[in-house]
Amino acid sequence: MKVSFKDLGLVNTREMFAKAVKGGYAIPAFNFNNMEQLQAIIQASAETRSPVILQVSKGARNYANQTLLRYMAQGAVEYAKELGWKKPQIVLHLDHGDSYEVCKSCVDFGFSSVMIDASSLPYEENVKLTRKVVNYAHKYDVTVEAELGVLAGVEDEVASEVSHYTKPEEVIDFVKKTKCDSLAISIGTSHGAYKFTPEQCTRDPKTGKLVPPPLAFDVLKAIEKKLPGFPIVLHGSSSVPQEYVDMCNQYGGNLPNAIGIPEEQLRKAAKSAVCKINIDSDSRLAMTGAIRKHFAEFPGHFDPRQYLKPAREEMKKMYTHKIINVLGSNGKAR
Ligand SMILES: [Zn+2]
Repeated sequence: MKVSFKDLGLVNTREMFAKAVKGGYAIPAFNFNNMEQLQAIIQASAETRSPVILQVSKGARNYANQTLLRYMAQGAVEYAKELGWKKPQIVLHLDHGDSYEVCKSCVDFGFSSVMIDASSLPYEENVKLTRKVVNYAHKYDVTVEAELGVLAGVEDEVASEVSHYTKPEEVIDFVKKTKCDSLAISIGTSHGAYKFTPEQCTRDPKTGKLVPPPLAFDVLKAIEKKLPGFPIVLHGSSSVPQEYVDMCNQYGGNLPNAIGIPEEQLRKAAKSAVCKINIDSDSRLAMTGAIRKHFAEFPGHFDPRQYLKPAREEMKKMYTHKIINVLGSNGKAR
């Protein structure tokens, strides 16, 4: 049986992105796999009145089950209303859909947005597959994100050794042919908590800390020039906050040289045509740091609620910070 996202109280990304591009801010796209993460995302979004994209990756579908995740997202809309958010603007999005079949099943199942990631295929095949997904999704008013260029790093089952920046000369043709609603580009962000090797970084002479290479804003500018006002997406945009890496390491973890995208670079990107910024690793780090700390401080605790509660609070704090201080999406969904 087919379900429309509209019956679940979800929205697609069309209007949300148009406003974000015009307003010079970006919508947070947070991945979720479990209840505590979802609660933290919804609490942070409801309290700040920020539109939000709930992302489900292949790894999440394998871990938690696609059916369960969809009903959780449906529950999240009702939960948001209970928190006093009268008109929640919540998108349920498939992250890195890798086939027409997966995208179709999500459209039929109540997702309001899907990504078809055919970026590893030759250009013409990427166009063809993306176009096929768009044709189907648009029949149900579901919006489609496509990707051009390849990101480095590992995220669930998406992995690549090296990045290939998006070629600005391809974007007009690609968007025209595929009719996709937004475009994920590669300008130096990457998946995971180890976005750069120490060799790719420089060291701050004062603190001795690694400083990652800057994003390719010249490529972003060239793309914006080719596609004025078209919604652009950044994947792999966690900042890997040092406080969480330290928290993990201080309490028995081993995350040497974990490094992300500095927040001031994302702030700059959010003001451009970039209107969706994907953040996953930061939530993993906040959760793991908080749990490790709790285990160290309360070795006698064994009720999961005892350690998941501070983990949830830490994630909520992190999500709220991103919304207000990095993306600027607070107050945009009243
Ligand atoms: Zn991604």
